[in-house]
Amino acid sequence: MSRTRTPVVAGWFTGEGEGFRLLGTRCSACASVFFPREDAFCRNPGCAGGELAEVPLSPRGRVWSYTDSRYRPPSPYVSDPELSWEPYALIAVELESERLVVLGQAVPGITVADLAIGMEVEAVPGVLHEDEETTWTTWQWRPTGATA
Ligand SMILES: [Zn+2]
Repeated sequence: MSRTRTPVVAGWFTGEGEGFRLLGTRCSACASVFFPREDAFCRNPGCAGGELAEVPLSPRGRVWSYTDSRYRPPSPYVSDPELSWEPYALIAVELESERLVVLGQAVPGITVADLAIGMEVEAVPGVLHEDEETTWTTWQWRPTGATA
């Protein structure tokens, strides 16, 4: 059976391979960038409000914090309670130009022992989980090998 590849959350990322990007929104009035995307109104309390336009985020950032995730994650990460739970490294990555911190899983095979604060990582397409009909896709962070 072939499974449909479906983003676990619609509109948060796009593209494949080198063209993969997280998608946020940017306010036309104050230039604040939001991820998760904010489509209703600008959340900057000092902003009178502008148009929110979709923007691709920087493909790379630096590890700001990380943790070993040994519990099932909250929404929007769907997880089937019937399946065995695989612990993974959860990384908070700072995107310098957007001044945003984006949480995500490390790619499979990367553990907290492989990570360090300030390490450069890039967003890559990943698989969150699979069920009978669907491969649920997400973003993951992969160390680039560049030294800080
Ligand atoms: Zn604004």
